[in-house]
Amino acid sequence: MSKLNPYIERVIAEVKAKNSHEPEFCQTVEEVFSSLSPLVDAHPEYEKNAILERMVEPERVIMFRVPWEDDKGNMHVNRGYRVQFSSVIGPYKGGLRFAPNVNLSIIKFLGFEQTFKDSLTTLPIGGAKGGSDFDPNGKSDAEIQRFCRSFMEGLFRFIGPDVDCPAGDLGVGGREIGYMFGAWRRLTSSYANGALSGKDPLFGGSAFRPEATGFGAVYYLEEVLKHEKDEIKGKRVALAGFGNVAWGVATKLAELGAKAVTLSGPDGYVYDPDGVTTKEKIDFMLEMRASGRNKVQDYADKFGVQFFAGQKPWGQKDVDIVMPCATQNDVDLDEAKKIVANGIKYYIEVANMPTTNEALKYLLEQKNMIVAPSKAVNAGGVSVSALEMSQNSERLFWDGEEVDKWLHKIMKGIHDGSAAAAERYGLGYDLVAGANLVGFEKVADAMIKQGR
Ligand code: GLU
Repeated sequence: MSKLNPYIERVIAEVKAKNSHEPEFCQTVEEVFSSLSPLVDAHPEYEKNAILERMVEPERVIMFRVPWEDDKGNMHVNRGYRVQFSSVIGPYKGGLRFAPNVNLSIIKFLGFEQTFKDSLTTLPIGGAKGGSDFDPNGKSDAEIQRFCRSFMEGLFRFIGPDVDCPAGDLGVGGREIGYMFGAWRRLTSSYANGALSGKDPLFGGSAFRPEATGFGAVYYLEEVLKHEKDEIKGKRVALAGFGNVAWGVATKLAELGAKAVTLSGPDGYVYDPDGVTTKEKIDFMLEMRASGRNKVQDYADKFGVQFFAGQKPWGQKDVDIVMPCATQNDVDLDEAKKIVANGIKYYIEVANMPTTNEALKYLLEQKNMIVAPSKAVNAGGVSVSALEMSQNSERLFWDGEEVDKWLHKIMKGIHDGSAAAAERYGLGYDLVAGANLVGFEKVADAMIKQGR
């Protein structure tokens, strides 16, 4: 690895000193900035314009309380967040996450990543993220609805089709977006359906939005395999997670003749040597999610496969590709060592920042391993969200074929653009650095061209 540019080194140190209580945010800043030396070396104007310092401060942070009533009539209060990171390329865009571990550090890390991811898509969208420390698991439909309505009461004045367009993330799917959109429509007395994406196609949602992140990840993987003169057919893939993204990945893999052989949840992981390939198994992933039980053991019980309580799938043998699709920091250094020891060549991040910086550094040092970064691999979701915004502005609905064609083109563009940038800076086929370089450069140059 080349020497870190002194300006970058200084800003990373400042970020760590100023935000020592925000470990996830510091981690992502260090990860992104550490690969930018060649670019910053070549652009002395970045330091003069304080680009890095500006980039690490969100344009706006919104925090609000979310009171809601449970089915027994008791009131609860959660915290709501929206971090509007950057609007230099387009309206803020990014998901809402409902999970008990949500805090400002996690939303800032996700918003920072989102800015570069959204820039990579080549579509005109800025970066943001939001959510709440609300745990949707085990809540009734009426409780979810009351929570979503209250959340929107706190947020509605800060969003809109030309301002900020939130979507789903962990714990927020089509149902929650529907309830939030209903609340937005009533609160604003308008039908600006570009104010949220991931809606049902009945009221402005795009074809393919639920599939987009998972399908896009597999399209990206196909480009990596093509680069290596390899093919997807027959590949055995270890997945982590069992939610919407893992479902999309498993579905597309099965369609292309490959197999997801593991799924994981908070309770452990399952190993299905025949793969999650049949319609019954793929549909069961949706059922598991809808049940709200949050237990992947249900899959093992139903299909008679092995369940490993409390374990992650990274030690699984007989696997060609790993794709972490669950949550941040799922793979630490010990887990990364297991993956390398099993001789796996392709490490394809899907969840946002699923790898600790230590583990990522170790994986990148491996000569025979290809590492693809989440901000590129999972960008299909937000890309189709941006296409949903386009359809809403046009008041048109594109068919699935049209959306899939765009998704394919965008994912190929992200892969090829990242590979070319890394090559241009003499880094070889380094998809991690390439994505950071391309995503960052566009935001930085737009900032300079728009002045102060
Ligand atoms: N939450 C997704 C992401 O991390 C999608 C965001 C969106 O569609 O705006 O990119």
